Amino acid sequence: MSRSEARAQAVFEITTGEPISLAKPKALDEIWAADVFTLVKMEDALSKSAFKAMKKTMETGAPLSPEVADDVAAAMKSWALSRGANYFAHVFYPLTGASAEKHDSFIVTDPSGRAITEFNGSLLTKGEPDGSSFPNGGIRQTNAARGYTFWDPTSPAYILERANGATLCIPSVFVSWTGEALDKKVPLLRSNAAMNIAGTRLLNLMGEKEVAPLNSSCGAEQEYFLVDSTFANQRPDLLLAGRTVFGAAPAKGQEFDDHYFGAIPERVQAYMEAVEETLYRLGIPAKTRHNEVAPGQFEIAPYFESANVAADHQQMLMTVLKNTAKKHGFVCLLHEKPFAGVNGSGKHVNWSVGNATQGNLLDPGETPHQNLNFLLFCGAVIRGVHLYGPLLRAVIASAGNDHRLGANEAPPAILSVYLGSEIEAIFEQIKEGKLDGTGVAGIMDLGLSEIIPFAKDAGDRNRTSPFAFTGNRFEFRAVGSQQSVSGPLIAMNTMLADSLSWIADKLDSELAGGADKPAAVIAVLKDLMTEHGAVIFGGDGYSAEWHRMAVEERGLKNLPTTADALPYLQDDSVKALFTRTGVLTEVELKSRYEVYAEIYVLSMAVEANLVADMAKTIIYPAAMKYLSDLASATSAAAALGITVDTATVSAVAAHADAMLAVVTQLGAASARHDFESTEAHMQFCAGELRSLMDEVRTHVDALELEVADDQWPLPKYREMLFIK
Ligand code: ADP
Ligand code: MG
Repeated sequence: MSRSEARAQAVFEITTGEPISLAKPKALDEIWAADVFTLVKMEDALSKSAFKAMKKTMETGAPLSPEVADDVAAAMKSWALSRGANYFAHVFYPLTGASAEKHDSFIVTDPSGRAITEFNGSLLTKGEPDGSSFPNGGIRQTNAARGYTFWDPTSPAYILERANGATLCIPSVFVSWTGEALDKKVPLLRSNAAMNIAGTRLLNLMGEKEVAPLNSSCGAEQEYFLVDSTFANQRPDLLLAGRTVFGAAPAKGQEFDDHYFGAIPERVQAYMEAVEETLYRLGIPAKTRHNEVAPGQFEIAPYFESANVAADHQQMLMTVLKNTAKKHGFVCLLHEKPFAGVNGSGKHVNWSVGNATQGNLLDPGETPHQNLNFLLFCGAVIRGVHLYGPLLRAVIASAGNDHRLGANEAPPAILSVYLGSEIEAIFEQIKEGKLDGTGVAGIMDLGLSEIIPFAKDAGDRNRTSPFAFTGNRFEFRAVGSQQSVSGPLIAMNTMLADSLSWIADKLDSELAGGADKPAAVIAVLKDLMTEHGAVIFGGDGYSAEWHRMAVEERGLKNLPTTADALPYLQDDSVKALFTRTGVLTEVELKSRYEVYAEIYVLSMAVEANLVADMAKTIIYPAAMKYLSDLASATSAAAALGITVDTATVSAVAAHADAMLAVVTQLGAASARHDFESTEAHMQFCAGELRSLMDEVRTHVDALELEVADDQWPLPKYREMLFIK
């Protein structure tokens, strides 16, 4: 079957397939956390003292004794075996952004050759994967490949059921034999600890006597596309790069906004329910689901959890989305821009910090201007984003996100903070050295007696801001849909730790100088606003005016590509930030920079090869075939004395020729390896390589609009986006 026949066949099969039967979702209490070794299960299985110790560790990060670890291991093993899991795996989060696991069986043999099961505290606590093929950015050579995984007791263990059996999964950190972090969990835990130390000191200065450990929280909204797998399997670009490198815009796109929050198609609903059931079993609190802006695009958001657990859960969520899609005949695309011309996908990382005694410190309450703790923490965020905007941009830099950021439907690549009118007004007052508060937002009166009146929100939403205050948390909206949330969380926690310390130092001296608390807070925040208020912006982040103003008047950085942003990981201010807070050593930070730069360069190389390959072996033959059909028809007509229009023949010939010429240039560009530095190589990828790829695409997409539909060799946008 030719490619174009296969495409027609796919449309037929998908549209005439069996109708979906929606099963009734299972009762929540039957499935909730069924596959998780929860505190409730531990309470039943552990001695009182072991349970108490474990609970304390999970809640406060207190150290655990080897004896308790033995007890927990024994309980975990019996639970796992009773659930049919004969294997256990330390699950860790290497710098690739994926999750990794090494499986070990519980089985050992005794001297008489019997098989028995064994699992104790030290096996639970420490694993030793041969991790030499994980990227480490020069920290570890293959001849010194030792890497260790250590159990993270603050994130619950769980059982992962797969077709080939069940495995007990143990969330872990991953470090080199010299003790350097090789993963995303170690710095996340360290950043939380640094934030806790700085925040506690500040709260103590504010007169809070009892301060429970501070923890950061994260609720991540995940956007994704679903494409029928029959289509996806016919697109080498979707299979290898996760995005379409070619594809003309369909006659109808998203301009009617008729998909956003529209009725969810039944087949998709069946998929979502299957995803949710798996997530609930894993104790992941999936909370909202809806259609997104682009056709074929959807969103899922779990309820927020502690940042560390949320990060582990987010990784699982992405895996569950992808695996469940396979079972439902879909491919789930997590790429930031699978289709040009329609909205891309992001991951909105909602983030707050709080504790058991003071609650959420980013919750302004009814009278924000009297909530000094809130003002200090919010001020700390403002300073953090101003000082470390380039860092925040660097941690979300990727080849995929480059297609999305700044593309007039996603946040710009300039980091600014949106506060909402009420909070912004308060910080403006502080800048003037006063603090009167604003009027209350009032009651929403619709003039409809049957609708219950309710209080208005203090501020509107601003969808154009990359970093927005949304009532009781900040929402980092520029994060890419396939990225791990850990990088952004580490950066946010660390910049907050730094700012909280800076504020605490200043407050300390104000108070020592005799100022009363409100006066001291205003004085510190006034300074903070004078130095860092330029980062606050409530207007249209997409506008050209903002792009100019941000850079020229506010001194903010516009870093459009990964090549521009990533080098900031090696900026002196960023090095100082991470070493001072103890979150990453210079060696660890450098290794991260090198790994991410390499991933970027490799992704671009793969895409460049893919573009050249598809253009030459799929598009060119189709164009030539059509050209030959047209040419024969034209000369046959001429033989009969009929003149037909030759504009199409010429257009096809011209685009096919021009496409090949650019493909040749692209081939030469891909072969270049003589770069004087990583930065130069990245700039080359973001500049020349990317524009050559875009140029090939222009010709291919033009050809798609010329070549007979029944001869086009790739599933088209209108099919992939609209046929479910
Ligand atoms: P949106 O209106 O932004 O689309 P959603 O309801 O889809 O909102 O998602 C908001 C996310 O923010 C959810 O994951 C939610 O649990 C999370 N969230 C709510 N409150 C907090 C908080 N205090 N800290 C962190 N995340 C929060
Ligand atoms: Mg949101």
